[in-house]
Amino acid sequence: MFLGIFELKRWIIFAVLISALVFGNSYDLNAEEKIRVLIVDGQNNHAWKATTPVLKSILENTQKFQVDVATSPPKDTKGFHPEFSKYAVIVSNYNGNEWPTETKNDFIKYIENGGGLVVVHAADNSFPKWPEYNKMIGIGGWGGRNEKSGPYIRLRDGKFIQDTSKGRGGSHGQQHDFLIESRNSEHPIMKDLPSKWLHVKDELYDRLRGPAENVTVLATAFADPKKGGSGEIEPMLMVIPYGKGKVFHTTLGHSPEAMKCVGFATIFARGTEWVATGKVTVPIPSNFPTLDKTSTISIPSTK
Ligand code: ZN
Repeated sequence: MFLGIFELKRWIIFAVLISALVFGNSYDLNAEEKIRVLIVDGQNNHAWKATTPVLKSILENTQKFQVDVATSPPKDTKGFHPEFSKYAVIVSNYNGNEWPTETKNDFIKYIENGGGLVVVHAADNSFPKWPEYNKMIGIGGWGGRNEKSGPYIRLRDGKFIQDTSKGRGGSHGQQHDFLIESRNSEHPIMKDLPSKWLHVKDELYDRLRGPAENVTVLATAFADPKKGGSGEIEPMLMVIPYGKGKVFHTTLGHSPEAMKCVGFATIFARGTEWVATGKVTVPIPSNFPTLDKTSTISIPSTK
């Protein structure tokens, strides 16, 4: 078919527009555009081989992250030295032996210089004797932690205070569904989330303690004594500045099932984005849990 010069021009413009759309979209999905994340695991008294793939899937499903995993040797950590500086965020799913001094120093430098850190559940049990790590996580549990590790964070008269009273650092009652309450609706991670929602069956960490410096508590849960809890309103989600870097600490996520809570997954992805960029674009899904109804994502079983 012969095309007049005007029709031809029109077709060329049309073709250019279409290819811009197509290539524009594929460019958005280009790995170079994504936030680079490194999940660190390899030692944990929790099922890290089952939970790391869930964390990875949650992030990858947003299309915003490119995720690698660095797995330490099973006991000795000799030679374990991930290249932290290649990443915008380190997600710790690690609760194990001390890393080599050089690795620890690199890790400190990485966060000090603006790197992001996300601490998931038992990662806050790790490194009880590493002062800088404890500053990063704010508060932690077990590993001999007690009043010498620093205060508890307690809610008194509507304010979070440091409680230096004596006692163990870290405990939990039996696993159950529990309400999470937002304590900072203005923070980008929490913005537009409901004020309370029901989290799926999980371990509710209580009595965590540590340096507790500059900790902003984003959400809490009541550790019900009837379930073996402390009877206190406990910090569940926190952010902590460290040098130029940012830390997001979630105490939640004992098991793959707990991580499949839509609340956990959404906030984990939002927190990971925030420590990397200072902004949050990960949307809040319509099936976010409500006051009386839990909600879970479907990720193929990793067991
Ligand atoms: Zn646990």
